[in-house]
Amino acid sequence: MTRKFQWVSFLSALLAAALLAGCVFPLAAAEKSWAKFTRRENSIFDTETTFIGFAETEQEFDRVWGEVLSRLRRYDQVFDAYHGYDNLHNLYYLNRHAFQEPVAVPQELFQLISWCKQQWESGLRSTNIAMGAVLSIWHEYREAGINNPDSAALPPMADLEKASGHTSFDSVVLDEEKQTVFYADPDLSLDIGAVAKGWAADAVLPYLKESMPSFLLSLGGNVYAGDKPMDGRSAWAVGVQDPRADMLSVSLGGTDILDIVDVRDQTVVTSGDYWRFYVVDGQRYHHIIDPETLMPSRQMLSVTVICKSSALADFLSTTLFVLSYEEGLALVQGMDGVEAMWVLPDGSVQCSPGMAAYARSLKNAAGGTGK
Ligand code: ADP
Ligand code: MG
Repeated sequence: MTRKFQWVSFLSALLAAALLAGCVFPLAAAEKSWAKFTRRENSIFDTETTFIGFAETEQEFDRVWGEVLSRLRRYDQVFDAYHGYDNLHNLYYLNRHAFQEPVAVPQELFQLISWCKQQWESGLRSTNIAMGAVLSIWHEYREAGINNPDSAALPPMADLEKASGHTSFDSVVLDEEKQTVFYADPDLSLDIGAVAKGWAADAVLPYLKESMPSFLLSLGGNVYAGDKPMDGRSAWAVGVQDPRADMLSVSLGGTDILDIVDVRDQTVVTSGDYWRFYVVDGQRYHHIIDPETLMPSRQMLSVTVICKSSALADFLSTTLFVLSYEEGLALVQGMDGVEAMWVLPDGSVQCSPGMAAYARSLKNAAGGTGK
């Protein structure tokens, strides 16, 4: 599978500055002296993981980072759809066996599936992880198109329609007590790409909050910001990428940042059409598929969600990407502590009202300092 390197570019700039300065910024805080450290890792979730934190010593930072990595690695294996591992009933195993008999899965996977099923049953169906049959067709054509752009093609609609007959979450039978999953439809499969990274980020939070509360963790741009940074700032600055940034002008020193949100104890997750796509006849076909049309959704260029739960933010960013702005706004306004920023196809930006507390463009427009 092609490696995917997503990034939040403001974060990258911040990291570059940290690296240039030798990674360490000694700071005075009461009697303790804190320093800021940064690590990156490319072997998890097919993307780039970045971890920034404030610790008293580099050894302490690396001890926490090592534990975070090993926990994330476990999730990467359990959620892996493309590889099997010895003695592990992960997603790959599930998709190959659950149509024959109920499969007992690790609780991390069971909980994720069960939560997604609850969302589906509550009527939120734009993000449907039981849509693997459709998504795998798109995946196959996208990978082929990326590898051989000259012969890039769209999947036949007849194939997509046939597959869409095998995407009902009702066919995913869960046994809470036995922690088993059974596919009542042999052609159904699960694709948890829309929520896996957010779910994993949430899973390491309790450990991080206890061990190194002032941190910023990014799983391929799926960001969680912990307590305020210990360098005097009141929040972490996270860049929201301009979905149509001109890379040439960026390489000449221009910016690809649409806005900056200042957050702490919050997650910031973006779904965009610019991360994973291929081109057929000059037209871009990205990786978020509308369950109604079975085609890449054309409602948005990107949607960014801020809230307390990374799993919810990941789920919602995909959901809002498929819904119209009006439908999405109504959904967000019905939820406590969830804010969103939409970039529409014409490049215009819409925000839920509470986004004004985070987005610098809105704070500046209101006459704030933007700090
Ligand atoms: P990313 O993984 O790039 O951060 P998302 O969180 O929006 O972006 O998830 C996109 C992934 O989710 C796709 O690669 C695909 O595996 C899956 N997916 C795409 N469309 C849907 C959908 N409508 N419902 C559920 N999963 C989807
Ligand atoms: Mg998502």
